[in-house]
Order: sequence, then C-alpha cells, then structure tokens
Amino acid sequence: MAFSKSDRRKIYDRTTGYCHICKKKLSFENYGLLGLKGAWEVEHSNPKSIGGTNRLNNLYAACISCNRSKNNNSTRSARARYGRTRAPLSKEKRKEEKKGNSFLGGVIGGIIGSVAGPVGIGLGAAIGAKLGYDKNPDDD
Ligand SMILES: [Zn+2]
Repeated sequence: MAFSKSDRRKIYDRTTGYCHICKKKLSFENYGLLGLKGAWEVEHSNPKSIGGTNRLNNLYAACISCNRSKNNNSTRSARARYGRTRAPLSKEKRKEEKKGNSFLGGVIGGIIGSVAGPVGIGLGAAIGAKLGYDKNPDDD
C-alpha cells in the first residue's frame, strides 16, 4: 500500500509527528528511509493481516523499528513496552486537553479556596493551576 503525500501528512499530524508507540520524533521527509534520522512508516494499529483497514483511523505514524517489531501484536502491547497507553496527541487534541486541564485546575482551586476562606483562595488557585499544569507532562 503506497500512501500519497497528503495521506502521509494527515497520518503524521495525527500524533504531531511522534511515533505512536515509543513517541520518538519522526521526520516527515524521511518517510520509509530506513537508517535516516526520524525515518518512519505508516503503521496499521489493527494489523491488515487480521482485518485492519487502510482508513485513517487505523493508521498511525511509527518509527520503522517500532513498526517492524510490532508485527501482529496489538498496539496496546506495543505501547505498553514503553509504558505508554495511548498515542501522542494531535495539535488540536493537545489544545483541547490543555483547556480541559486548566478548567479543572480552576475548579479545584475554587473549591479549595472556598473551603479555606479568603486567605485560601490564592493558595487554592495556585494549587489548582499547578495541578492543571502537571496533568500535561507531554506538553512541549
Ligand atoms: Zn517508535
């Protein structure tokens, strides 16, 4: 299966250019170029051999070694080798998630603040902001 450049772009952007298994940064231009820095391939999350499709939602960018060592293993077990459970997020998803986390941080801060009284509000907000921040260790 050969993927067009626009297909590859979509697939690459799904994970902001990170291998979806080990999260190594990939080089868009080095597609399929084994041995070059950031070389990558399109990986079928659900292997074609067991019925996986060529639809975008089944395709991820993976570095060549991850793709080839995965064989017919599940994405879940391949990621687990790197202590990961999910794919790196796309830019859009990161933004959404960040919004969600700072909202949550604000809510937690507000609760702590209202329980602790006026003095606690600042502290609570600071703790909340920190929680929101720390929940996103993947963010660059
Ligand atoms: Zn990898």
